[in-house]
Amino acid sequence: MPTPIAIARDLPSPCGLRHSACVHAVLVALMLAGVAPQASPAAGKPGHSGFSDHDPKREVRILGRVAPTDAPAIPKATSNGDWSVAGGRLVPRFAPSPKEQMWFPKGDAAHLGEGLVRARIELHGPLDVSLLLRQRYQGDPPTVLSGYGLSIEGESARLHRWDRGMPLPMGPEVRLGKLDQRSSLELVVFMVGPQLIASIYDGDGLQLIATLAIHDTTYSFGCVGLRVGPKHDPNSAVTLLTTMDATKHATRVHAVPRSPRYGPATDPEATPFGNTRYAFIAGAATARLPKDLRARVQSTVDGREGARAVLFLDTVGFERLRRTGVDVLSVDSNVPWSTFNPDFRRRAKKQPSRAGRGFVLEDSYKDPALVEQLLRAYHERYPGITELVEVGRTHQGRALWALRISDASRTDDEPAVLLDAAHHGSELLSVEYVLDAIDTLVAGYHHDARVTRWIDNLEIWCMPMVNPDGNHMFIHESRFAIRKNGKDSDGDGYSDPFEGVDLNRNYPFGWGQTGSSGLPMHKWYRGPAAGSEPETRAMMALADRERFAAAISFHTFGTEIYSSYVVGDTSDMEPNVSRAVAREIVAAADVQPNGRKYAVRSPDYPVAGSDQDWHTHAHGTMAFVLEGSHHNPPLDVRTQAVIATRPVWMALLDRVLGGPWIGGHVRDAAGKPVAATVMVAEVVTGAGERWGTRARDGRFDRAVAKPGRYTLVVQAPGRAPIERTVAVGRGRVDVDVVLP
Ligand SMILES: [Zn+2]
Repeated sequence: MPTPIAIARDLPSPCGLRHSACVHAVLVALMLAGVAPQASPAAGKPGHSGFSDHDPKREVRILGRVAPTDAPAIPKATSNGDWSVAGGRLVPRFAPSPKEQMWFPKGDAAHLGEGLVRARIELHGPLDVSLLLRQRYQGDPPTVLSGYGLSIEGESARLHRWDRGMPLPMGPEVRLGKLDQRSSLELVVFMVGPQLIASIYDGDGLQLIATLAIHDTTYSFGCVGLRVGPKHDPNSAVTLLTTMDATKHATRVHAVPRSPRYGPATDPEATPFGNTRYAFIAGAATARLPKDLRARVQSTVDGREGARAVLFLDTVGFERLRRTGVDVLSVDSNVPWSTFNPDFRRRAKKQPSRAGRGFVLEDSYKDPALVEQLLRAYHERYPGITELVEVGRTHQGRALWALRISDASRTDDEPAVLLDAAHHGSELLSVEYVLDAIDTLVAGYHHDARVTRWIDNLEIWCMPMVNPDGNHMFIHESRFAIRKNGKDSDGDGYSDPFEGVDLNRNYPFGWGQTGSSGLPMHKWYRGPAAGSEPETRAMMALADRERFAAAISFHTFGTEIYSSYVVGDTSDMEPNVSRAVAREIVAAADVQPNGRKYAVRSPDYPVAGSDQDWHTHAHGTMAFVLEGSHHNPPLDVRTQAVIATRPVWMALLDRVLGGPWIGGHVRDAAGKPVAATVMVAEVVTGAGERWGTRARDGRFDRAVAKPGRYTLVVQAPGRAPIERTVAVGRGRVDVDVVLP
């Protein structure tokens, strides 16, 4: 029988830290809400813990077994009386005696002031037992007690304090009742500063029987132990004793790489000691913190009021901080990313600085303002090959900026390619891939033959930030703003960090299918209608106008490329040219900084309403989602990642120009562009695709998987369809079709 502790979150919710003048009452409420055990349906089943987020391995076992497979722990102890420890069962073996008997295990785990103590008792007769807490005793064998205890005598329970051997009842007495109908009890005592909260459960079903709480400042630290009195039936054995020291377990740390700059990644939600939040204190006050709390200082933020230190704390940590007497200036669970990024805060104050033929990019991640500054700087430096284009505006009025890179004016008829990023606002590394592409392109023009060829023959549209509202929110407002676009969905005038639309679920193709959600607070919220969002509509309008030959939308961080289609139950083109090209372009890339190469994937979960599927379906664009290797890694990793990813977009530009590829124009006899569909008969499509020509020049671009003979089928309204056979070798073939 394992011995789970049930922790439930469905107790009455606390009023919140900012609310009450009575900080103490609020904290107790928080502690109860965060960690007070309660029966749950899952509790009591072998191998299953009802203690939310609780890993029994985190408890230190002093006596007994936690899991059925554990070897019983048999501790060294100091005791008086006659105790037997066998098979993980602790039994006082004494003839009925007027004297009380005590048992104190030795070792670090038995000494704690703040944290959790858990014990189980098998019931085989009357109880007269105390779970001792924060105790000091005199002598060996131990005699005089000073400290606390949770005592059960007969059918009643209460907390006690002993002062040099004198017991003093604390708090109310609680009747447990029906102990003769139970076979075991589980006792859990939670200790934070002056608060001791004890819960008593049925040991089998884990129903909560009683909760007791006291507030007392006399003893802050001491030993865990057991005491039995003269009425105790010696057959009622203690079968488990564990501790969890709050000062050692105050935050849960993920098994993710430790960032040398920002410390271990921490779970933003919960720890075994309750939900986490950030506490801001005066920077100078950190010197007054105990060592382990000082270790939780995550950052120092310069503000108008001077430097503030930020601690990431759970309930226990927060209470401990409060008891140091250090003023807590504010508490927030919702701080933005910039709070913990000194590089960004430093960089945000400066203009872009030149580096070689480009600009410094590796000194920080970027928010919408920094992206705009940079795009303007590139355009000012390279006006002949760049154009800064506002392709739309967001809900909050931010411009959607594109930097179009080409030697020619926009009326020229070169194939267009799109590199975009940050459909998801929090994916900061994705922005860097596109900025790196811009820098590589402009700096390489007339210095690197490959780059010069691309710029001379393509129009490369670079959009580092498709979702500036979402990005701004993540960087400047809330760490809970993750993917979405910050839209005020409920119209209350405030953009909640959980509101907004996932832009990469909002495109019309496959919209509404599985892999997206209709719930406005869901992270995959697809929006109220297909293409409902201004960002989506701007991207679609741009694509309808430019008819991109190829596109990469950068995301993070699966180290993989998605070919079309990713929506479920849709026929891919056959042969799957998209898959073939995806394979080719990622094969060109280096190993990423996480040690992996980009994998070509059809996702094992469907994604409905993605940009890539829409581009493919609407225009036959060779469109891909490239998931980079990391999520907002330290800057040295950022730079390794962008360098290792360059070969992918470079290979795609080469593929458009270097083939195998069919491009060309459809015009009428007078040389005017014709709006026509141009399909390749050997590429069978099954989702109603009708890929047309570009309005301004009649251009079309169709990738093929490999060299061979292909048949172009060209159809325009009111004209007879015509077919053209094209022999495609290793290169690109341009075909001018004249419709009679
Ligand atoms: Zn993403």
